[in-house]
Amino acid sequence: MSAFIDKMRRRAGRYLDVRPVDIRPSRGIMSLSFDDIPASAWTEAGPTLAEHGVKATYYVCGGLAGGRNLDLPQFEVEHLQALHAAGHEVGCHTYEHVSTLTLSPAELDASLARNAAWVAERLDGYEIQTFAYPFGDCALASKPVIERRFLCGRGVRDGVNRARADRNLLQAIGLESRRLPGYDLKALVEETAASKGWLIAYGHDVGDAPTPYGCRPDDIDRLIRLAKAADLDILPVAAAWRMTTS
Ligand SMILES: [Zn+2]
Repeated sequence: MSAFIDKMRRRAGRYLDVRPVDIRPSRGIMSLSFDDIPASAWTEAGPTLAEHGVKATYYVCGGLAGGRNLDLPQFEVEHLQALHAAGHEVGCHTYEHVSTLTLSPAELDASLARNAAWVAERLDGYEIQTFAYPFGDCALASKPVIERRFLCGRGVRDGVNRARADRNLLQAIGLESRRLPGYDLKALVEETAASKGWLIAYGHDVGDAPTPYGCRPDDIDRLIRLAKAADLDILPVAAAWRMTTS
């Protein structure tokens, strides 16, 4: 029963209280992002990003620092500081990595405030500007909270953002080994270029033997090469947001 109710609640978050934003950049954009974040999203993906001169967005949960999630070692504070120093964006993914379906708006706001303070303390007052929903779960009542605190929020529903996208629930494709075989990445980046849209990708762990939620460095390399060949701008989420909506 509760699985059914959660499904209905996810559907409400998806279809109701939509805040349309006109996504019309002068040329197509791609953003890469990593959630949680497993240590390998920095140690393994960082060199690939650097090789291409690409900046990504890392959606961080302060409460996961130095711990384990899905049996993977998570980032250490030094990783966060290094990726920030390298020019990547740090985004918010709640403090405890908890679904918004389980939180009241006040509890969600408290988790976001805690995460913001945790990050600011470790990154010299840095202000987080964008959000990704843990598990892609967007409770309807969470949307105004996200809108108050962030430029935009990102879910995990497949698709290219364009024209009237929901600023509090942007779509994204999974750089996940369980999902990658189902995508035609070349067609997706070409569609993004042709429609002047915004393609967001998200992943978790990165390595040659990724979990179902992770990908290989080669997958990232290939997607970046395809995006460059299609002449997409590749920008972190906050920078892309500014470019798409200005
Ligand atoms: Zn997550």
